[in-house]
Amino acid sequence: MAEHESTGQQDRAAQAAPRDGRRGEGSCADARVVLEARDVVKRYVLDEIEVNALRGVDLQVCEGQMLAIMGPSGSGKSTLMHIVGLLDRPTTGTVTIDGVDVSNMEPNELAATRNRRIGFVFQAFNLLSRTSATANVELPLIYAGVMGPARAKRAREALERVGLGDRLGHLPIQLSGGQQQRVAIARALVTEPSIVLADEPTGNLDSRSGIEVMHILQDLNRQGITIVVVTHDENVARHAERIVHLKDGRIVNDEIVENRTLAEDRLRELDAEEAAEREAEEASAR
Ligand code: ADP
Ligand code: MG
Repeated sequence: MAEHESTGQQDRAAQAAPRDGRRGEGSCADARVVLEARDVVKRYVLDEIEVNALRGVDLQVCEGQMLAIMGPSGSGKSTLMHIVGLLDRPTTGTVTIDGVDVSNMEPNELAATRNRRIGFVFQAFNLLSRTSATANVELPLIYAGVMGPARAKRAREALERVGLGDRLGHLPIQLSGGQQQRVAIARALVTEPSIVLADEPTGNLDSRSGIEVMHILQDLNRQGITIVVVTHDENVARHAERIVHLKDGRIVNDEIVENRTLAEDRLRELDAEEAAEREAEEASAR
């Protein structure tokens, strides 16, 4: 769309786009819109009680962006994630992916689009417990019809990408929470999606493991993958370049993160703090 055709939605996206010049001068303009929700409403009816989980959400996600969706519990974050991730349909409103309206897609076409384009990471990892890291990561490739040694090779490469090249045969129970989440990220990556949607990916992790997960997500983003991360935690959200705030099913703020947190720096600080603590302990023991 041309600049002069500016709409409210474009204006919001323009305000929201990164200002570091990496993707142009402050708008989605020269980055494509990869995901878009237009006036999305989601109403659940359970035991005759209506819940308006989303009350008219307009959102554009620019290609290559790292976006956080933040809001308190019950504000509609997961609902929005499921809808833009094509796992659920809106009650009204439209979702487009790469400019294609998915509203009228058949379920199998939706599934194919999702498998080709989107990787999911969930708070609870959702790994198969009796199955090795490699076999867990191979699973989406089985659905995609990838056969034989190519499948194991791709799973291994995905695990290497998240720093688990030495844990290929481990079962989930033999891995720490942070490592399990990294297996889940490898599983999301193995189909080479252009978008990764992560719903509270650090919610079940200690703070160091959480930062390690954010480090991987920032790294993937640097490699060009669009990342949307849902969180209720401001410290997690500040790893993104843009934060969309959700409240009671509505977007109430859309901000650019000044001085975004680099997980790499946080990890280095943690290392230094731990080294200092060890030194102090040793000194007091002498
Ligand atoms: P968040 O992820 O921000 O915590 P959710 O998107 O999970 O919020 O939920 C938003 C609202 O919708 C909540 O009030 C929740 O209880 C309700 N809700 C979510 N999923 C369902 C469902 N399948 N059936 C009925 N209500 C639901
Ligand atoms: Mg949720």
